[in-house]
Order: sequence, then structure tokens, then C-alpha cells
Amino acid sequence: MKTIDLHIHTVASDGTDTPSQAVKKAAELGLAAIGITDHDSVAGVKEAQEAGAALGLEVVSGIEVSSDYRDNNVHVLGYFVDPDATALCTVMDWISREREERNVKMAAMLAADGFDISMEELRQTYPGAVLGRPHFAELMMKKGYVSSVTEGFDRYLEVGRRYFLPKRRIPFAEAISLILSSGGVPVLAHPFQYHYSWEETMELVDTAEALGIRHLEAYYSEHTPEQQAQLLALAAERGFGVTGGSDYHGSRKPYIRMGSGMGNLSVPYSVLESLRRDAGRV
Ligand code: AMP
Ligand code: ZN
Ligand code: FE
Ligand code: FE
Repeated sequence: MKTIDLHIHTVASDGTDTPSQAVKKAAELGLAAIGITDHDSVAGVKEAQEAGAALGLEVVSGIEVSSDYRDNNVHVLGYFVDPDATALCTVMDWISREREERNVKMAAMLAADGFDISMEELRQTYPGAVLGRPHFAELMMKKGYVSSVTEGFDRYLEVGRRYFLPKRRIPFAEAISLILSSGGVPVLAHPFQYHYSWEETMELVDTAEALGIRHLEAYYSEHTPEQQAQLLALAAERGFGVTGGSDYHGSRKPYIRMGSGMGNLSVPYSVLESLRRDAGRV
């Protein structure tokens, strides 16, 4: 069976593969198509599509927008977005400025407490990366302040810890309308990753539908077979389409493999054919 992976992160957000490396890997794995879905960024899309064209691999333009839904961070995937859409560029600029301000504040707070951590060193160590807490944690580990990235989060960077600063997110409704106005198909990402009860998940799906979402991410590395079946049934019942992918992040999440997730994932090519039909791109 031809399989695909529509959920892939690169160095344009917090993955460790460059877009070209991700495409090469997908080709080696024999995947029929991939989607590049960096957090709040389309910066990797063009390079990936050029690499895909050279290798004969279909690369779908995508994004994973972090949005605010009832004070939770709900992710909205967007497929076939135009990476040059003005609305998208404006919001992405706002998001990256917010992130930069937060990083500068975090680095200052750490330095004030005596940690040898600076923005200059972070930028030098991770050239071109969209810097965030994972990079702070990794640098703290390299310098021996903590013994692992996880410990860095647990002790210093997790919500409620001394150096955690909240990031402003765009409202759920705006994330969806942004994707629609950029020519994309909005998809509710990994619906079971929000620590909601079934009832709350249904409220989220209802809200999503009212705002224009008609697709759920049913196939996902961290879904159990039961959860995958539940989502496929839910989508069928509501007349929704489905998408799927691994959430590959390269060596930053080594337990997730491109295409196959944690050994449990297999997304049929037909998913992309339906998505393309729904996007009006047949
Ligand atoms: P940021 O966007 O800077 O807030 O960082 C978010 C990233 O940190 C996400 O990609 C998460 O995968 C990662 N992250 C969040 N919590 C933890 C944790 N406890 N351990 C390791 N990574 C984490
Ligand atoms: Zn990520
Ligand atoms: Fe996500
Ligand atoms: Fe993701």
C-alpha cells in the first residue's frame, strides 16, 4: 500500500532535519507524499517542495498553528496554504516577534540568577533555528546545569517553574480563518492530545465545525488503535474528512519515526487524494 506522512517538523520550527533532509528521508523510506507542518511557520515549505520535485516526491505545503482555545494550546493544521499569502506572513511575523521577546526575557532572567546562558550563545549554537524552550533546556544540559532536557523542563522551564513565560497565541477562531484565507484546509490536529474528557472533546469538535473545520487528524503516532478507530468513526458520522501523520521531529523526538510513528502508524495515500478533492485541487 502507498503510504504518506502529513505531519512533519523541520528546523523551520523545532525539528532537527532541514527541509531537504526530511524530503530525502521520506524518499528513502518510500513514502508516496509528505506534508511539512512546522509550528507557526511555512519557512521550510519551499525548500522541501524543491527537494521533492528533484526526487519525484510530492510535498504538500502545510503549517501547524498553535491557538488559544479555553486557555489551552490547541493545534490547527493547515494544508495547501499559500506560503506567500499576506495574512499568513503578517501573523507569522507577529508570532515570531512574540517568541523573540519571550526568549530575550527568559535569557535575561536566567543570566540574572547566575546561569551562563545568553541569546548570543543560543543563536550561535542553533543557527537558523526558531529558538524556544527546547534549546534553552539543551544548552543548560550542555553546560551541566541539568543532566537532561527533561530535567531542564521539570526544574526550570515547565509551566509554573521559575523561568517559564507564557507565549501569547492567536485565538482558535483566528487560526482557522487565517488558514482559510491563505487558501488552506484547516484540520483539528491530534484531537486526543488535549487532556479532555470525551464530552469536552465533542465540544471542541462542535466549536471547530462551527468555525469552518471539516477535517480531523485521525492517524497519529500517539493515538492508540482504539482512538484511531474512534476518530475515523466520528469523522464518518459527521461527514468530516481525515488526515494523518507521525509528528516527526528528527532526533529531538527519536521515538517517533517518519511514516511509521511508534510502529503503529500507516496513513494510506487515499487520505491525500480526498484532502486534495476537499481543497478543490483535483
Ligand atoms: P516553546 O514553544 O518554546 O514553549 O517550547 C515548546 C516545545 O517544548 C514543544 O516542542 C515541546 O515538545 C517541548 N516541551 C514541552 N514540555 C516539555 C518537557 N517537559 N520535556 C521536553 N520537552 C518539552
Ligand atoms: Zn514540535
Ligand atoms: Fe501538535
Ligand atoms: Fe506537530
